[in-house]
Amino acid sequence: MTGFNFTPGRAIPGQPGRAGVIHTPHGDIATPAFIVVGTQAAVKGVLPRDVAALGAQAVLANAYHLYLQPGAELVEQAGGLARFMGWGGPTVTDSGGFQVLSLGAGFKKVLAMDTDRLAAADVIAANKDRLAQVDDDGVTFKSHRDGSRHRFTPEVSMGVQHRLGADIIFALDECTTLLNSRPYQEASVARTQAWAERCLAEHDRLTAARPDHPYQALFGVVQGAQHEDLRRSAARGLVATAVNGRRFDGYGIGGALEKGRLGQICRWATEELPWDKPRHLLGISAPEDLLAGIEAGADTFDCVDPSRVARHGVIYTRDGRYTVDTLPNKRSFAPLEADCDCQTCAQVSRAYLHHLTRAKELSLAAWTTIHNLRFTVRLADEARVAIERGQFDQFKAEFLGRYRRRP
Ligand SMILES: [Zn+2]
Repeated sequence: MTGFNFTPGRAIPGQPGRAGVIHTPHGDIATPAFIVVGTQAAVKGVLPRDVAALGAQAVLANAYHLYLQPGAELVEQAGGLARFMGWGGPTVTDSGGFQVLSLGAGFKKVLAMDTDRLAAADVIAANKDRLAQVDDDGVTFKSHRDGSRHRFTPEVSMGVQHRLGADIIFALDECTTLLNSRPYQEASVARTQAWAERCLAEHDRLTAARPDHPYQALFGVVQGAQHEDLRRSAARGLVATAVNGRRFDGYGIGGALEKGRLGQICRWATEELPWDKPRHLLGISAPEDLLAGIEAGADTFDCVDPSRVARHGVIYTRDGRYTVDTLPNKRSFAPLEADCDCQTCAQVSRAYLHHLTRAKELSLAAWTTIHNLRFTVRLADEARVAIERGQFDQFKAEFLGRYRRRP
């Protein structure tokens, strides 16, 4: 008994998407689900009670950040990530690979999701100019905090994530951009597979060495960028990986995803993955992307965007995105969104929130973060209900029809 498993529920007819339930030692996650990001063991701007009240089922933190500050040992001594941050439900940590390789490190600019106007030289810094250098054994990087040098290997990542103690942890992977060359992508997928094998072996060793700890589920990450053959072979490689009879408990789908082809790229992976294991699509939250991912068979999602844009006064509504500054009816006592059931929309008006922007009050970020997180969590919840009722196609068409109608 591990205390971790996935029960697939009803499927979307003719699609890889499905409803389901992930069982973890700290509670269940009904899927599809949006997992709220608390990078540094904190959901920026809000308290755990707010996160619970808005319906979030799990929180994802980042192994790289917690390794640097406050250190995995302290989190372990606190009783693990959930207890340390005062969160009562399931937790997830990602491996740190993405942050090590993207946080001002491997890339000159943000990860390229829209490559139309960019050349490779604009995005991919030469190895000598990076704060992180990848080799076949691991990644050496300089801390974004103080410039100190560190090394992540698959074994280090597993050790850190075991000490952090989240219910779901991820194998160390190399994250590429859409602009890396085909030979580089091939080599990178092979490296990520080799790292995945080492992560599973170390995870097996650590799990056996700590039988009194709650079981931690390890997900392997499917890379391969925009190449169908690489995505499929990467997924098959992870599925075939076994150490002492142990296999990955689930799978992440990561890396560069072209926005217009997100569903298709996700499907290449999910078609190769076992039906009875959960799949997590890393770093996705825009409504149209979330729905495309759900249809293509992803069960869980995480992304910093809903909370990050909220702190800049951007809010999601069913009628599209707005900024608090340019909200229609800024002297109105109506809520941000009439049919939203969040704490913000229940308690305060557009006029009040607009006042907070002018007054530069900190609490504005809490109000807008609660609204945006509720919006995203609820979208996944409603998709799940629609799948269970056999009405996903109708739900998706109605939602997107309204969301995109705004001129
Ligand atoms: Zn709201």
